[in-house]
Amino acid sequence: MDRPTDNWPRMTLAAGPVEVSPRTLRAMARPVVYHYDPAFIATFERTTRLLQRVFRTEYDAVIMQAEAVLGLEAAAASLIAPGDKVLNLVSGVFGKWFEGFIRRYGGEPVELAVPYHEAIAPEAVREALRRTPGIKYLSVVHSETPSGTINPVREIGAVAREFGVLTIVDTVSGLGGEVLSPEEWGMDVAVAGPQKCLGGPPGLSLLTVSPAAWAAMEGRESPLRGSFLSILDWKSAWLEQRRFPYTPSVSEIYALEATLEQALEEGIERFAARHQTIAAACRAGVRALELELWPAQEAIAASCVTAVRTPDGLDEARLRATMRERYGVTISGGYGDLLGKVFRLGHMGPAAHPTLLAAQLAILERALADVGHPVRFGAGVGAAMEAVAGWNDALALPPA
Ligand SMILES: *Cc1c(COP(=O)(O)O)cnc(C)c1O
Repeated sequence: MDRPTDNWPRMTLAAGPVEVSPRTLRAMARPVVYHYDPAFIATFERTTRLLQRVFRTEYDAVIMQAEAVLGLEAAAASLIAPGDKVLNLVSGVFGKWFEGFIRRYGGEPVELAVPYHEAIAPEAVREALRRTPGIKYLSVVHSETPSGTINPVREIGAVAREFGVLTIVDTVSGLGGEVLSPEEWGMDVAVAGPQKCLGGPPGLSLLTVSPAAWAAMEGRESPLRGSFLSILDWKSAWLEQRRFPYTPSVSEIYALEATLEQALEEGIERFAARHQTIAAACRAGVRALELELWPAQEAIAASCVTAVRTPDGLDEARLRATMRERYGVTISGGYGDLLGKVFRLGHMGPAAHPTLLAAQLAILERALADVGHPVRFGAGVGAAMEAVAGWNDALALPPA
């Protein structure tokens, strides 16, 4: 066998974490220093500013020190007080999951749900806000990674503003896949992760907080302080005094700085366009293989992953195991309620490129045939490569 004897994958094209660039890996290998060393303070300051630039915001950016789930729970814990009504938009697994946080912190969830292959319509949000008086917060997932769909957060944010409702936006896999702006989109607390489109390692929560959201956290009868989940602790310690509420993950900050630098050097517009182009090409490949996309319409398909409906009679777990075991290619299956119903082709970070897309679709074709599914070899790869016509790494922008 010519594959590595320790049987590590050759290509990680999962729904996150994803493969990290050599430059980011080198950054992580820098010496670990005391977090109050002036060099680290300067690094943390620089990284926070880079994060604002990637988010294209003047709002405060806060880097919390654990995987993005921390940021999501922190948003709930820091904002929601007992009795607060929260309109929770559910178009997938992560949207539904947020309801648990709302309840945990004493909030009253009001659900607006659609089937998990559809997106939330802004007009339905307006209707729900009209129907239910007294809603204080709205929670929404920008990019529902398990469904491979996106919600129109910009339009939803505008509706929330009409009603004076603050928004909590899970854009963990959205940041980098679309050019967004917390101010323009009405995102009061936005939470992203480095391990999705940005192509960094997991381990941090990347937040932006609007002045209104700070006021809501501070205006609570008993503001959340002195907690790992407190976003306010980061305001009073880091933002106001350049102190840390607790020891930050030094090596992860190095990685984040490098990850953000690379995204900004490429340019956020170009970065997002690259993801969108590759996602569209991936969908063309999937269709050419006569597989069905999971999202109800292409217009709501995400740029982080392409979710494919599992065809009748195909055991998608066996398909993925074949890709992994025989060819060393890791893709993701369905998650939560979508387990078995979909499998997901990944194209985030460095993998959002024609080379890796071609390899992924070629191995998908091979593995489909291996498990007995009819395949016209080359159909998927061909359609995808046709769809990236005009691509040129040397140009300022890949074709939109
Ligand atoms: C990845 C992701 C999260 C974080 O969850 P993990 O699976 O623990 O990384 C949250 N929300 C969305 C939409 C995500 O894609």
